[in-house]
Amino acid sequence: MLGLMQDFPLTVDKLLDHAARWHGDREIVSRDGQGRVTRSTYLDVHRDAKRVTNALRRMGVKLGDRVATMGWNGARHLSAWYGIQAMGAICHTLNPRLFLEQIAYIANHGGDRMLIADPNCADLVADLLPLVPSIEQVLFFCSADELPDVRRPAIAFDDWIAGESDDAEWGGFDERTACGLCYTSGTTGNPKGVLYSHRSNYIHALMTLQRDALALNARDSVLLIVPMYHANAWGIVYSAPATGAKLVLPGQKLDGQSLQELIVAEGCTYSTAVPTVWQTLLTHLQESGTGLGKLERVVIGGSACPESLIRAFNDGYGVNVIQGWGMTETSPLVTVSIPNVAVAAMSPEDQMRYKLKQGRPLSGLDLKITDDDGNRLPHDGQTPGRLKVKGPTIASGYYGGDGGNPLDDEGYFDTGDVSTIDANGYMHITDRAKDIVKSGGEWISSIEIENIVLGHPQVALAAVIGVVHPKWDERPILLVKLKPDAVGADPQAFRAFLDGKIARWWMPDDVLIVDDIPLGPTGKIDKKRIRADLTGYQLP
Ligand code: ADP
Repeated sequence: MLGLMQDFPLTVDKLLDHAARWHGDREIVSRDGQGRVTRSTYLDVHRDAKRVTNALRRMGVKLGDRVATMGWNGARHLSAWYGIQAMGAICHTLNPRLFLEQIAYIANHGGDRMLIADPNCADLVADLLPLVPSIEQVLFFCSADELPDVRRPAIAFDDWIAGESDDAEWGGFDERTACGLCYTSGTTGNPKGVLYSHRSNYIHALMTLQRDALALNARDSVLLIVPMYHANAWGIVYSAPATGAKLVLPGQKLDGQSLQELIVAEGCTYSTAVPTVWQTLLTHLQESGTGLGKLERVVIGGSACPESLIRAFNDGYGVNVIQGWGMTETSPLVTVSIPNVAVAAMSPEDQMRYKLKQGRPLSGLDLKITDDDGNRLPHDGQTPGRLKVKGPTIASGYYGGDGGNPLDDEGYFDTGDVSTIDANGYMHITDRAKDIVKSGGEWISSIEIENIVLGHPQVALAAVIGVVHPKWDERPILLVKLKPDAVGADPQAFRAFLDGKIARWWMPDDVLIVDDIPLGPTGKIDKKRIRADLTGYQLP
């Protein structure tokens, strides 16, 4: 017997409808590449999204067509996002920080029909268009007088939607219809497409709103630093309209000063970003002696959050730093380091050990760790295994069937991360499977060593990678980028700093002080490039 409740397909247009109807005057603040701030509301974004839908239909875009965006976080991008998705087309977010060849591969693989880009990506777009024949029309997020020249007729977004009606039909299709396409950076081989559905994004929004998850609420003012082209900006493009939180969209400039100014001026209470962005902000705060206004909570994820960062924000600025874990394939949020009752009863110092872990799963998701043969491993906080996840917001495969079936016999997705799970249910990433250092048959966690070294006062960035060794297969070496004022540091000092804090056999065989440590397109340390740069390196 079926229940007698209403059939209400979980399509994401309903989230923006809700924001317009119940939080219509809540502000959306956008800053562009020139630092100009524009103010709009959920009502404005909703109206423009309706116009986008009408403009797309006028150009023949249909259910399932891919419309690409290449833009920073801003209100126009948000209107385009919803206008595309709400009519059943697929918003394919392109990351402008990737190399041209990668973007061309991704846009061709996605079969994108249109591209709507930020005007300051014009040079990239001009180079891209000849490489992607499927793109019929290019538009720019700007007014007619700002339209750049890309050696092809382009349309200004503002003109494109200006004459359209504010009324357009949304939804009305199966909730499992695809709505978003986002490619992972492809740690091996080509990037692979993750195809979100309306249902998965709607459920993800609700899951992240749990008190023991991202816990956004109507009173929050959110500085959305995580780019919209990176895994749905951690779902905040959906959860903010769902709650009516104010959205502050910082555009391209993510330097410490720009962020600090926005946080204070817009009364931001909440933010999200990868650790490197927070590290940059922290350096600016320390150098300028400025503060963080009303900021209360910050969720950090994307790579492991160093203890020094958690302490600096908490002790210096009264900001609670919460670590989250996820990946493009998981919508992205899966775990959050929020205390259960046992951990909440511990002393602050003991609780810190848990804040450094990636946390416990959101309700609605399940985790397990296994050995290479798929056998489940114990939750003893010691035994590392392959991390696998299951739930309605987890990918079941990649666009176009690339990479084959990523699920095991029990339907769990293999994340490619290695982690432990402890008796309190806290998952702790020890490494990505490809970054772990395998020495004499045992695993050394590069992340753990990096986090300790980041606690050294002279260190700006640290990376540990495995180098081939004739006897032990691999040995770790440490690369250190010093803070600008830390001249004349002795490489041996960092080994001494690690002494007693890690097992003896984990001690890096070499320490290299380098001018820079390369970051990838999403602000994470790019170990693939470090390995390439170290070709020919010999251990001492
Ligand atoms: P990519 O980094 O390849 O662009 P994603 O953005 O999807 O792809 O990143 C997902 C990966 O980031 C995870 O598999 C994990 O290795 C890493 N990651 C995410 N959050 C954390 C975290 N809090 N701690 C450690 N690693 C993390």
